[in-house]
Amino acid sequence: MKNAWFEWGVGAAAAVLVGTGLVYVGVNSRAVDASPISNEPDPRELIASYTSALDANAYSSEMKRVSVLRNETLSSVLDRIGAPRDEANGAVQAASEVLDLRGMRPGDDVTAWLETDDGGDVRLVGVSLRPAADRQILVSRAVDGSWSSHELMAKLTLGINYIAADVDQSIYQTATALGAGDQQVVDFADIFGYDIDFQREVHTGDRFGMLYETFEDERGQPVKSGVVLMAAMDGAGLTKTFYRFTPSDDGVVDYFDENGQSAKKFLMKTPINGARLSSGFGNRRHPILGYTKLHKGTDFAAPTGTPIYAAGNGKIVSYGPFSTYGNYAKIEHANGYTTAYAHMSRYAKGLKRGSYVKQGQVIGYVGTTGASTGPHLHYEVYVHGKPVNAMTLKLPTGRKLEGDQLLAFQAERARIEALRDGELAQQQLAAAMPAQRAGAGYASVPTAAPAPAETRETTAN
Ligand SMILES: [Zn+2]
Repeated sequence: MKNAWFEWGVGAAAAVLVGTGLVYVGVNSRAVDASPISNEPDPRELIASYTSALDANAYSSEMKRVSVLRNETLSSVLDRIGAPRDEANGAVQAASEVLDLRGMRPGDDVTAWLETDDGGDVRLVGVSLRPAADRQILVSRAVDGSWSSHELMAKLTLGINYIAADVDQSIYQTATALGAGDQQVVDFADIFGYDIDFQREVHTGDRFGMLYETFEDERGQPVKSGVVLMAAMDGAGLTKTFYRFTPSDDGVVDYFDENGQSAKKFLMKTPINGARLSSGFGNRRHPILGYTKLHKGTDFAAPTGTPIYAAGNGKIVSYGPFSTYGNYAKIEHANGYTTAYAHMSRYAKGLKRGSYVKQGQVIGYVGTTGASTGPHLHYEVYVHGKPVNAMTLKLPTGRKLEGDQLLAFQAERARIEALRDGELAQQQLAAAMPAQRAGAGYASVPTAAPAPAETRETTAN
């Protein structure tokens, strides 16, 4: 994007101190023309925009940008790029005044500015750290050799995006192609995970929709994922829309359908991710024993080591090898429900018979122990001791909103739907006026970032 603008909200009377001199910036914020290639505002560019008398010709200078390696500290990073030890110590000391450096992780970026003077001496003049997408720590040296640090918070823009499409191959592929982030697709799958077996029950031609928040910097670049506000499926398996809502009485964020019924269910439909249903419930010829008998469970083929989840809250009543089931676990839930998990390669750490587990907690890992022809999870559900088909079972549901909570939810649902309608209207308008969108007059407007099939709306910052 051309003519991108950085606007770092520099604190009042903050100073940017780098390079050959000391430059105070006595303003709350300044828009600085920044290179679209670099995420880091080069202090030299900052200075150049405040002063016209920068004389950096007497020095050769260099910007070094490196990633923190395993077991490295800021000191060792600066050492690695050739900063003199005493200057690095000053920079580290100054940085530690605004940032807990123990929070540095492998892969974090460190940018440093080094200068070499006429005599060939190298000195460190500035260091930039980015502990969060919207937070930058700038450490700089003054002419007298003292070090100081400054925190810069990027001004993020909260936006909204709505995507809706027919499923082509997978929801993941389609949604990410339309601009959704990985986390948002994962959230979408979690919301519907109680109702839909994504490996089996989503087909090409099913339609999905998702309204989610976006956070962008001044250049219109998404810097972090926002939450999913609305998730909709319209398919052969299920037609349903869920809305994000936090009831004020328990404060637990959840997704509810238009009647205020939580998406959550008493038991998860499939206690495993990314598995393929390989054998359903019912009479079948036993693959090993050869004769026809009732298959009391559902088989999910998955690689050895794939985590297996507790389908619901409950107490482990069996946790050990059990006959042809191999490594086996059985959980007792409320209301006479029991679930069982067989052929596991290994058990989860810290659990034993008698442990209480939460829905979605890992209880073991896929394997092929016992009478089994390959790695899979054999999953059984019993109601009052009688085996039932987990795939067709009508499950008891989670919370149903009532009274004031239902009224508050309906108001929030109306707000979310209005946001979606506004997005749709903008998208249709944008589609109807492609020439104007591409007009040169829009080039310097930050929110006019090129965005195929979507528009953005500024609601807050
Ligand atoms: Zn089985």
